Amino acid sequence: MTRTLQWPKTIARKAVVNFEPYSARGGMSGALHLDANESPWAPPPVTNTEDFNRYPEQQPAALRTRLADLYGVRPDQIMIGRGADEAIEILLRTFCEATKDSILVCPPTFGYYRACAELQGAGIIEVPLQDKYTYDLEKVSQAIRSVGPSLKIVFLCTPNNPTGNCIQPSTIEKLCADFPETLIVVDEAYQEFSDQNSFATQIERFTNLIVLRTLSKAYALAGARLGVAIADPRIVQLMCKVLPPYPIARPVENAVMAALTPAAMSIFDARMDLWKSEVKRMAEALLRSPFVESIAPSQANFLLLKIKDSSSLLRELGRRQIKIRDMSKILPNHLRISIGTPQENDIALAAFGVANCEQIPGRIGEAHRKTAETDIAVRVDLDDASNTQIQTGIGFYDHMLEALAKHGKFGLVLTCRGDLHVDAHHTIEDCALVLGTALKTALGDKAGIGRFGFTLPMDESQARVAVDLSGRAAMTFSGQFPTDQVGDFPAEMCPHFFESLSQTLGAAIQIEVDGDNTHHMIEACFKGLAKCLSMAFERDQSGAIPSTKGSL
Ligand SMILES: *Cc1c(COP(=O)(O)O)cnc(C)c1O
Repeated sequence: MTRTLQWPKTIARKAVVNFEPYSARGGMSGALHLDANESPWAPPPVTNTEDFNRYPEQQPAALRTRLADLYGVRPDQIMIGRGADEAIEILLRTFCEATKDSILVCPPTFGYYRACAELQGAGIIEVPLQDKYTYDLEKVSQAIRSVGPSLKIVFLCTPNNPTGNCIQPSTIEKLCADFPETLIVVDEAYQEFSDQNSFATQIERFTNLIVLRTLSKAYALAGARLGVAIADPRIVQLMCKVLPPYPIARPVENAVMAALTPAAMSIFDARMDLWKSEVKRMAEALLRSPFVESIAPSQANFLLLKIKDSSSLLRELGRRQIKIRDMSKILPNHLRISIGTPQENDIALAAFGVANCEQIPGRIGEAHRKTAETDIAVRVDLDDASNTQIQTGIGFYDHMLEALAKHGKFGLVLTCRGDLHVDAHHTIEDCALVLGTALKTALGDKAGIGRFGFTLPMDESQARVAVDLSGRAAMTFSGQFPTDQVGDFPAEMCPHFFESLSQTLGAAIQIEVDGDNTHHMIEACFKGLAKCLSMAFERDQSGAIPSTKGSL
């Protein structure tokens, strides 16, 4: 029975009236969101309103250059859009004539290809994935041949959402080579999580290849809405004709440029190590869940789960306010869970009925600061000293910071791009400031920590260092260095380092040092501080705040 349409449906396009909206996530609630493959960590904050009064460029040049560098291609090979989603939409609108042309998809896969095709009025050819979700190259090729030139775009997703597996590179290469007039779109939204190389650098080889990348997943910028299509410049130019005149708002450009500075990359790398290890941990742990029948091997930041008793699991997740993605519409009895922080994952494991010894939350602190003088990113992990990577451009300073992390027993990833052509001053001072901020963030409420001091001998030198993580900044230093310089490191910057650190860490740092060798004396100061910090950072089981005030 057909219902008669009511105005304004009577005047709208048929494709829109019949369209079932793509299910985007609604507003954030208080719930734990493991349903949209986002990063659980927000990027560091920025404010700068310069030029907000001016319309931006359609393709902001600095941003295009940065993204080209990130993906290893040329700026004219990139179209920037509001997410990879917009690139998909623009592809459909640029290449597919309504009612005449069509696209090919391999379900189960990302739903937005189909949504855009429906709205554009393009046809949709489906070649389902085979067992184990592998691609059927023969059937895809047959379909392209039998439809002919009106089949404009083939959408391939690797790693595929929601199945998590990658496509064999040879399959993609063969399709590109066999069908040079058809656009082969390779959606690499999750490439950073996989062990496959990006196809972005292959666009020189195949002019019909288009690679999609996004900042929404690995780079924690889903809220900024930024993604790209990487393609032959002639394709990029056509797509830019269809793209609105000002898609990228200035705050978005600023936020993205600030979040993706060269120094910040070391934080993303360190996060990625943790994230991948959590994917692995969750895949192993969830197999022990009474609700889980099987898990598809994943090279992405989510897992596709086959579920036994979905109604009681969904009830359990609902009761605990945990959102994960129900895939049952396209894959009966399947759920997709995004991998969050270790603590979030533990909460999810509890809902899945996996016995999980309650871990004390890890203490990780990150700080990122960019000025005209320095670009510095710091990540500290007070409970895992395994990862220490320091790059300041000043050899002796790297050596001192390594000693600080090693004897302080904390992990330290610190990258600084500073104005060393001026001198070492800004680099040394600013690294201390950002390090203090990261340590302070990691300490949180300081529950269970110790507080105070150490005497450290080093050959003929001796440093007496006392530290109080009191929340109040203060620094005293007494000592005379016999020389002005150690390598590129000016000795006068030694007390200045401790001064800067004490400010952002919120600590009293008192140092007395004597000796005959400047290198030894400075090293004794750093190591002495390190020992103090390692004692102060150590947590006892009490979880008590070591202050009569009850807060530090
Ligand atoms: C998340 C996702 C996208 C969309 O990314 P945005 O840049 O946020 O629009 C594209 N493709 C796949 C496969 C995705 O999972």
